[in-house]
Amino acid sequence: MTAHPVADFAIIGGGIAGVSAAAHLAPHGSVILLESERSLAFHTTGRSAAMFVANYGADGSRPLCLASRAFLDDPPEDSADGPLLSDRGLLWVSDEARFDRLREIANNGEALDAGSVLVDRDEVLRLVPKMRPERVAGGLYEPNALDIDVAALHQAFVRIARKSGAELRVSSPVTGLARAGRGWRVSTPEGDVHCTAVINASGAWGDLVAGLAGIEPVGLQPMRRTAFMVPGDRSYEGWPFVVDVDQLFYFRPDGAQVLCSLAEETPSPPLDPRPDMADIALAIERINEATTLDIRSVNSQWTGLRTFAPDREMVIGEEPTASGFYWLVGQGGTGIQTAPAYGALAASQVLGSGLPPDLSGIDPAVTSPARFR
Ligand SMILES: Cc1cc2nc3c(=O)[nH]c(=O)nc-3n(C[C@H](O)[C@H](O)[C@H](O)COP(=O)(O)OP(=O)(O)OC[C@H]3O[C@@H](n4cnc5c(N)ncnc54)[C@H](O)[C@@H]3O)c2cc1C
Repeated sequence: MTAHPVADFAIIGGGIAGVSAAAHLAPHGSVILLESERSLAFHTTGRSAAMFVANYGADGSRPLCLASRAFLDDPPEDSADGPLLSDRGLLWVSDEARFDRLREIANNGEALDAGSVLVDRDEVLRLVPKMRPERVAGGLYEPNALDIDVAALHQAFVRIARKSGAELRVSSPVTGLARAGRGWRVSTPEGDVHCTAVINASGAWGDLVAGLAGIEPVGLQPMRRTAFMVPGDRSYEGWPFVVDVDQLFYFRPDGAQVLCSLAEETPSPPLDPRPDMADIALAIERINEATTLDIRSVNSQWTGLRTFAPDREMVIGEEPTASGFYWLVGQGGTGIQTAPAYGALAASQVLGSGLPPDLSGIDPAVTSPARFR
């Protein structure tokens, strides 16, 4: 057992949310990050589709996405070895019957200046020649959607945090949380950490971690989503990310392979989920119906949990019933593309420093845990 180290901030969870908080807090005080698994980013963060799409997700996550762009374009010096973003584009596709849905998505994007344009069948076929002409009436093309190098972004936060002295511990599951004076005692099998503020960035486990401190759940629901790789061709590399207008499937080129998904949302308890072959078979059926990709085999597959609050907005801020306990959970399907901004927002709340100028368009009430109390 180690002695009881004292930190200003204890962060629970080493996914993208936890390390973003660590990067934003470490310059202002001592940080200890505690991650259950033997490596960081083992759960949802390591299992995403790695996209930056401005016209996507809950209303409150959209300004966080836009506010993250500056960091993603120009990360702090020495935090990244190469660009974090690269060109991709995103194409929603629809048949005649569901074309109104495309218009709805286009309208949602207008306020964001996402640059989406409605395109006809010929343009869809020019962008993705393997779409079946008889199955597509048109599309909504967002050329500004980008690929994110998720591992490099996660690593950038780790580097920034470590540069300011943060300690990032793996194989350190938090098993208890209790008041200790004006702060908190955070228990792990290796010993306790005493801190002033606890940041709960434990993803799908967010309500369970709050429960350790006797705090009521906010109602987080983890949802399964499976992705898999099939053989492709390097000539597909210029294609955008293609999504069915009702999210019945999506696919995107990835080197010599194609990443595919059923885009399912199936409720799950918090755990390490395994792919269900029936989901993969259904995705293949739908993609083969919509395209001439003629998928016959799968190279690899994985499932991640996208975790949502009941209103699908993130949960960021101090728990009204427990001072010094901060939520940073419920990132759903947009937790990578919004990470720089929500890390900055969470840090400003923990530090009580007021909203940073580059987050001036953000309303913290939308994501506050107070809405559940
Ligand atoms: C298939 C798929 C595609 C996606 N595509 C995109 C996309 O294109 N763009 C995008 O922005 N987002 C995408 N997402 C969503 C994104 O991946 C998530 O929003 C994000 O990774 C959530 O990060 P997190 O840090 O909250 O969770 P996690 O990465 O799950 O991290 C939480 C961590 O907390 C740890 N933990 C839990 N309990 C404890 C405890 N008691 N003690 C210590 N540690 C604990 C866990 O071990 C885990 O490592 C996708 C998700 C999936 C599944």
